[in-house]
Amino acid sequence: MITASEIYEKLLASYGQPRWWSDNPYIVMVQSVLVQNTAWASVEKVTDAFPKPLTPEYVVSLSTEELESLIRPCGFAKAKAATIRRLTEWYGGHNYHADKVMAVDQNLLRNELLQIKGIGAETADVILVYAFHKPSFIVDAYTRRFLDRMSFGFSSDDEIRIFFESGLYTNYQLYGWYHWLILEHGISCCRKTPLCDRCIFAPICNVSKHR
Ligand code: SF4
Repeated sequence: MITASEIYEKLLASYGQPRWWSDNPYIVMVQSVLVQNTAWASVEKVTDAFPKPLTPEYVVSLSTEELESLIRPCGFAKAKAATIRRLTEWYGGHNYHADKVMAVDQNLLRNELLQIKGIGAETADVILVYAFHKPSFIVDAYTRRFLDRMSFGFSSDDEIRIFFESGLYTNYQLYGWYHWLILEHGISCCRKTPLCDRCIFAPICNVSKHR
């Protein structure tokens, strides 16, 4: 069976150096909420259109209605605005200092994030990796679908995390790039209806063999 690092090398060779999320931890936090059940293009459009720089102080100064209106194109505006508020409040507990958050133990931090209503495991791991540079592998729907089609037979996200985290160097950047490459693969090739004839994994993928 192909290993986690072999998959990475193949993805990298096929799609090139992946992009990073924003270097601004607060923008990562807000975008990680906005992107839930939404296309990435809408998220960038919405955050680019904010009338002032997207800072926690600015978000706190907005009324609930104003915040909902600004993020409406991303869908689920009420729920997402409430989550962004709770997340901002949590960040305020760390004085909006990314360095202070980075100093917290990874497991403690993950648990803190998971306590916030609206923050699930995927969003928590995105925030950990891209905003606070903690190596916590991100498992999303693209990752599950890809591994399932490749016949790995994992029965839980924890098994998937172990597969990646035990097969790679423990490095937040590597995890961040890996996540972006899987996303790229899921969007361009391993779609809902997969385009196996153009896929680099076709020779070793069971789905491709049976098409
Ligand atoms: S061969 Fe098809 S199903 Fe398998 S990983 Fe590639 S696109 Fe997905």
